[in-house]
Amino acid sequence: MHNKEAERMNGYNALLQVVGTPIGNLQDVSPRVMEALREAEVVACEDTRRCGQLYKLLAIKTPKLVSFYKEVEHRRVEALVVQLLEGTRMVLVSDAGMPGISDPGAVLVAAARAAGVRVEVIPGPCAATVAVAGSGFEGGFVMAGFLPRKGKERRARLEQLGACGETVVLYESPFRAKDTVADLLKAWGNRPAWLARELTKLHEEWVGPDLQGLADKLAGRGLKGECVLVIGKQ
Ligand code: SAM
Repeated sequence: MHNKEAERMNGYNALLQVVGTPIGNLQDVSPRVMEALREAEVVACEDTRRCGQLYKLLAIKTPKLVSFYKEVEHRRVEALVVQLLEGTRMVLVSDAGMPGISDPGAVLVAAARAAGVRVEVIPGPCAATVAVAGSGFEGGFVMAGFLPRKGKERRARLEQLGACGETVVLYESPFRAKDTVADLLKAWGNRPAWLARELTKLHEEWVGPDLQGLADKLAGRGLKGECVLVIGKQ
């Protein structure tokens, strides 16, 4: 086996590459990401159109794209693992950021590992870690992703997260961010907090520095774009 190929397989017969893709800024594609995307024979992706667009923007030839979104992942996983075991060069991506982080991916990674496939993660940006790094909050954090939308489940999750004693990271839609800030204020009282909007993009914006400040600044304002909330410890 050629040296590079032997290194890539690292003693395994099959390899799944889990690849992080930009969350807005195309320049965040690293040479390793580029190489994995270029050399893939099959890409398991959330949305074939979005993935095709990424290939177009990167000016590389699009390989076979297999749609692998939440509703079909359990149905598609077996066939993908068979392909991996047959030696197909396969990459897993989501629409943006790291697969498996509030995105599909874990099901294929777990199945691949169970079948003895090597899993290699080629890191890219992740909105949660970008937001924590820009928050100035020290120590650990809980990456909570999306809150349950309403009711008992939402209240219970808020109570649990509020008591965890760590910085909490939430993904939120711009249309619900104001309501979520209001719910957080009500459940937790005022805490240091930032809303990070459109990270890595032209109109990146940070609104803070605490929940009350956020509520005041967002009042009467329509929000657009993608948002992460980082709420510090009391
Ligand atoms: N896998 C992705 C990651 O690694 O960050 C997250 C996917 S999740 C379905 C999408 C959510 O991530 C958005 O609703 C938003 O909360 C957050 N997000 C993604 N890109 C973002 C960006 N450029 N700026 C702020 N938040 C972003």
